[in-house]
Amino acid sequence: MSRLIQFNAAARAKLAELHSAALNASFDRTKYGSASEIGGCARKATLNVTNPPFFTDKQQMVFERGHVFETVVEGYLQVQGFTKIAPEGFPAAKGPCYVGGAGKQLSLIHPEYPVGCNIDFAVKHKDGNLFVIETKTTDGIPDEPYGSWVEQLHTQIGLLHLAYPEAEIRGSILARDLNKGMEREFNGYSYNEQLFEYVLGKGVHIALAKHGEIRPSATPGPLCGFCDHRKGCPAHQGAQPLPHEVTTHVEKLIALNEQKKRIETELEQVKNELLYYTGERSFRGEAEEVALVVTKVEDSMTVDGPKLKKEYPDIYGEVTKKKSGFVKVEAKRLPSSASAALQKAA
Ligand code: SF4
Repeated sequence: MSRLIQFNAAARAKLAELHSAALNASFDRTKYGSASEIGGCARKATLNVTNPPFFTDKQQMVFERGHVFETVVEGYLQVQGFTKIAPEGFPAAKGPCYVGGAGKQLSLIHPEYPVGCNIDFAVKHKDGNLFVIETKTTDGIPDEPYGSWVEQLHTQIGLLHLAYPEAEIRGSILARDLNKGMEREFNGYSYNEQLFEYVLGKGVHIALAKHGEIRPSATPGPLCGFCDHRKGCPAHQGAQPLPHEVTTHVEKLIALNEQKKRIETELEQVKNELLYYTGERSFRGEAEEVALVVTKVEDSMTVDGPKLKKEYPDIYGEVTKKKSGFVKVEAKRLPSSASAALQKAA
């Protein structure tokens, strides 16, 4: 590993420590349910405390994407005339201003329940009304915001409403695919008493589970594949109900596979049409803007692996090498309950 890469990795580890220390300084995450956990899985949030995951340097680099985007959004706010304020100065500050981005974010805790949040950006307008921006970086922007994002935002807006009951508060989720240069705002969120009660209930559940008073519920979601506590998770034993977001992706995969099959059939038909013209021989032809190249590959010999292994095991051991494994993803349509019943009856 080059010296600069080593230097960067060490710096990344230090910055990650500083970042989590800053988050924990605002409220004790080992005892509270936080907004970012409320939208996710209570079992994961609890086990993250009792059995903290180790993040590799590669994972830390992925986390850095989020910080990079926060710096970008902060630049946008500043160039548009919003002044950066320290969290403690925010209540008295006159708008347009904001708190958040690089450095300290606005942290809020519920006056009665063990629930808290940090806010990426709390913006104050000239008239004193407030606006919450929750930033997200993704590989591909979903058509609809994930439920976990929305619940996180409702927790932040609700806690902000308790602190600033007179202000009108709105909120948006700003999602950016940094690689593709695509950005999308999911907007129109405001204080909603019923929703706030619902997310508060989830936060209290997480806090009680962290205290060891109840067993946390396992809520499967799109990020289960990255969860460090998947082993032994009750939500992944046997055929489990899929969460809505994951079902959407399964349906997309099925539709794309069907489209791929149709295209492959069409490709085969067109190739056959061309072979009627060229015959099954090597050929090259050109028109004004296109070329057709047909290459005949002659029959060849191949090794019969199972036979080699059975009859010449010594040689087999010498000429074979390890092949990397891979993860296979399959999506298929299940027979509808009606057709399943018919199949059973037949
Ligand atoms: S695998 Fe999914 S459901 Fe299980 S603990 Fe992790 S996030 Fe929760």
